[in-house]
Amino acid sequence: MELSIMLEYQKLDNALIRLENELRQSPAAKEYTTNKTVLAGAQEQVLKQNREAGEMVTQMQSLITEYEAVEKELKEAESAVPDVDSAVSADFFIRNVQKLISRLKVLASEISKMSGRIVELNQSYAATMTAGKEAKKKLAGCRDAYEAEKAKFMPQATELQQKLQAVEKDCSEEFLTVYKRLRKLKKLPVIVPLNGYNCGGCFMEVAGDLLVKLSTQPFVECPSCGRILYKK
Ligand SMILES: [Zn+2]
Repeated sequence: MELSIMLEYQKLDNALIRLENELRQSPAAKEYTTNKTVLAGAQEQVLKQNREAGEMVTQMQSLITEYEAVEKELKEAESAVPDVDSAVSADFFIRNVQKLISRLKVLASEISKMSGRIVELNQSYAATMTAGKEAKKKLAGCRDAYEAEKAKFMPQATELQQKLQAVEKDCSEEFLTVYKRLRKLKKLPVIVPLNGYNCGGCFMEVAGDLLVKLSTQPFVECPSCGRILYKK
């Protein structure tokens, strides 16, 4: 595959990237993106709080179940007053009742704490819902302006995309794979000229054997950054 085609592909792709950046930098797009991020954050928060609420309800239910069971046990223990003549069973009776009472106290305190946490969660849930609704409204409000801004870029973007697709047909599968991978890694430009003895992308010195290769073949891969290196 010819270097000139690769460079042409890159030129068109760069123009498209510049255009996308220009759109992204426009006030309308910025406002739209900000509101979208806020809305997504609120939605995520709602899901998280729903999960937390579910867990709290389960914990609360098990605390209440245990409280009721201990309470029942205490009532039963208290109603079975032992034979006053037996010191051993009287001692056991007192210790058992005390144990049950102190367990009930612990459970009551845990239930009260859990109630407090549930109230807090309810409050923050309401706040998240309000923020989410607000962001949704704002997003809807700025959508038209964003679409209008996007429409301004569309003719040029479509033209570039069509040209890019046409050049892509002349590109090898191997080149496109390397190019798209590096593009994703934001190693742009992907195809760079040799700058003296250095890579024009990462500025690392290129070894002598690669320089020799470059005198016989149109391009090599930079061993440091992976970019496609060519000699001007
Ligand atoms: Zn490099």
